[in-house]
Amino acid sequence: MAKLKSSVQILKETQRLYEVPNPIIGLTGGIGSGKSTVGKFLQAKGLIVVDADKLIHEIYQEQETINFLKKLAPQMIQNNEIDFPKLRELFFNSSLLKSGLENYLYQKLPLFFKSKLPKKKTTPIIYDVPLLFEKELNQQLDLSVVVSCSAEKQLERVLKRDNTDEATTLKIIENQLCMSEKVKRAHYNIINESDLEALKIETSKFFDSYFLA
Ligand code: ATP
Repeated sequence: MAKLKSSVQILKETQRLYEVPNPIIGLTGGIGSGKSTVGKFLQAKGLIVVDADKLIHEIYQEQETINFLKKLAPQMIQNNEIDFPKLRELFFNSSLLKSGLENYLYQKLPLFFKSKLPKKKTTPIIYDVPLLFEKELNQQLDLSVVVSCSAEKQLERVLKRDNTDEATTLKIIENQLCMSEKVKRAHYNIINESDLEALKIETSKFFDSYFLA
């Protein structure tokens, strides 16, 4: 298991997100900038990676969530399953539903997050959270690292990966906090402008700056 170097200044437990004992390194970027890929490289180096999107997915699997949604908007549930395209549509068109659902998810999140923590309190974890700066979580994280690239690269990678179109992807990119602002606010910038081999090397440089294998 990888460790943080003793020279890295860490927060007090009471200052940290959900007041957990383990140091948290936030990993962020824009859509398709390479967060998950960097997360995989860091995992291979012995770090524990928690993915915020996966935690939300786990919450959606719970019967309690399905019951909550049934009360909030019954048309979202078909045969005891969530109709995700309908949920997305309602989410963007009803501010009442959006805030009700967000409140519910954010109230559940700490428990799911804590269930992923290692027992040893000094073991750091990487938290892959796309909206880290938008949600102003950086003050409660020990370090934050951004995976950055140009909007052209984001677009190219997302179109190759997802079944989506250019206009939708550009809209998402435009709605996110701009990359240069994320770079300015982060402690470390992993540039992902070239191929996967180059990204692996850049990730290793980040790892060597803060961790011991
Ligand atoms: P999202 O926030 O949309 O989930 P992400 O930031 O986690 O995206 P990844 O899923 O890691 O981004 O990368 C997006 C796509 O681009 C993936 O298919 C990944 O394999 C590919 N990719 C990432 N970096 C590179 C690279 N340097 N060269 C080639 N392909 C890459």
